[in-house]
Amino acid sequence: MSAPADIPDLPAQRGNEFRDLWAGAVGAGRVGTEVRLAGWVNRRRDHGGLVFIDLRDRTGVVQLVFDPDDSGAAFALGHELRSEDVISVRGTVVERSADTVNPEIATGAWEVRVAAAARLAAAATPPFQIEGRGRNETGEEARLRYRYLDLRREPMREAIELRARIVRAMREQLDGEGFIEIETPVLTRSTPEGARDFLVPSRLQQGSFYALPQSPQLFKQLLMVAGFERYYQIARCFRDEDLRADRQPDFTQLDLEMSFVDEEDVIEANERLLRHVLAVAGIEVELPIPRIAHADALARYGTDRPDVRFGMELRDLGGALAETGFRVFRAAIDGDGVVKGINAGRRELPRSELDGLIAEAQELGAKGLVWAFREGDGWRSPTAKFLSDVELAGVNAELGAEEGDLLLIVADSAAVANRVLGTLRTRLAGRWGEIPPGSHGFCWIVDWPLLEWDEAEGGWAPLHHPFTAFAGELDEGDPAAARARAYDIVWNGSEIGGGSIRIGDPEAQERVLALLGIDAAEAEARFGFLLEALRYGAPPHGGIAYGLDRICALASGSDSIRDVIAFPKTASGGDPLTGAPAPVDERQLRELGISARAAKPR
Ligand code: ASP
Repeated sequence: MSAPADIPDLPAQRGNEFRDLWAGAVGAGRVGTEVRLAGWVNRRRDHGGLVFIDLRDRTGVVQLVFDPDDSGAAFALGHELRSEDVISVRGTVVERSADTVNPEIATGAWEVRVAAAARLAAAATPPFQIEGRGRNETGEEARLRYRYLDLRREPMREAIELRARIVRAMREQLDGEGFIEIETPVLTRSTPEGARDFLVPSRLQQGSFYALPQSPQLFKQLLMVAGFERYYQIARCFRDEDLRADRQPDFTQLDLEMSFVDEEDVIEANERLLRHVLAVAGIEVELPIPRIAHADALARYGTDRPDVRFGMELRDLGGALAETGFRVFRAAIDGDGVVKGINAGRRELPRSELDGLIAEAQELGAKGLVWAFREGDGWRSPTAKFLSDVELAGVNAELGAEEGDLLLIVADSAAVANRVLGTLRTRLAGRWGEIPPGSHGFCWIVDWPLLEWDEAEGGWAPLHHPFTAFAGELDEGDPAAARARAYDIVWNGSEIGGGSIRIGDPEAQERVLALLGIDAAEAEARFGFLLEALRYGAPPHGGIAYGLDRICALASGSDSIRDVIAFPKTASGGDPLTGAPAPVDERQLRELGISARAAKPR
């Protein structure tokens, strides 16, 4: 007899002394049979002459009945059991009477009358409640400190299981398309993905350090030179960055690379992959996924990670305001700036909330924010008096404003206007319920610039990484004009993956490195092994890497990647469970030939 669809049969164990059935598999087919179950006491209720215990294992919960008429010894133990004790029972599956059926749980129409029971381990009182589906309101520090208890909670278990199914689907799809899974080293040399490296001192070569990989980028390219043609890996990556909500110092990528392809092939293979993988989370990806040029994404959404589930697009008002005498707009237009706006839809907002929006825009870096409600042919707005009727009508037309619509306008540099309006756009859509619940929006961002000017470093920096191929000719005299053969994939406003066609020609690679300020000697020292490999016959190749944690968080509807990582770190990079990072013995440091400067007080 087999278990319900997604619960695999338990393999026969020697003697089956602990259990022979998953708790979640108790069902109609088992009525009248004797079963053994094992797990944790989810909840215990004492009803005078009877003790009811909800037994929980990985597959679900089932009610046990301890009745002195069935077994005095088991009943006595039932009295003593406490939440989270580990038990094993033997008993008979019976149907519950109609009035005691519990529709909340899958096994709710049955229960197990216990004939024998054993406590395998007693549990201390947990620091927070484990049973139930509620949010764990305990602080995150405590959840991570007792992560093994937090993981017992049903929503957490489901998220981790979903992650496993997603990874399995990735392997299924890629194996099916002829990809080979290959591991690459964790102790390696620096891979330039633009973050700080984690370093590991070498004991055998004192004074030298391994770097933990920021990605397997260089190795996967070497695997293409090696002729594997299609590679993938569920890869651990390490980036020593200041942490943000959706970042972890160690995180997981689905990394892949293909030979004899152009961007079209990579994009199509990945659309099939996404479609297959997200189906396991019940999400249907419509193909083809729309593509948006990088410049258009910035112009229309103010960001290269646009959430395309709703409109409220940014519009350039420079045309409508070309002749304006309004000082604020004039200054932006005459300077190097822009005047851009969004139509936030029909709203009634009190003055205090409008002031709040101005403050929000200023926090985001804008000098100010103009608000206006379309009223008749003009505006209701403190700014209306500074604009002519023609200008008001022009702006209304550009923003598609209808009566009562709220218009928000920023005059600033393009970068600031895009950032401010792009951020307000997504925040307000969320706040005002403009995002259809349960909807999903995907897009590719294509046609990227190859380089951007890095103000802080005073040099050109790659938008992706230095191995990204450029489109057409590379003009060293005009680095800003160079286009990259790169593509990012965005889901509901989160970048979930990015990649490119790579430079296959060593001379072209050296030219790009030179533009980045890496001269031949430094290139040789840092990437000599790659440049050398490219001289031995590199096939045209390209690939992509996905943030697995982010994909799983989005697929499980969680807003934090920590909810889909079994043992994540806190926002400050620590692990409250193990206490990592931690000071080490002086002797260990001596062996490594290094000494620590005075540690920061903790
Ligand atoms: N190595 C890149 C990254 O980690 C992805 C790629 O170009 O394939 O972002």
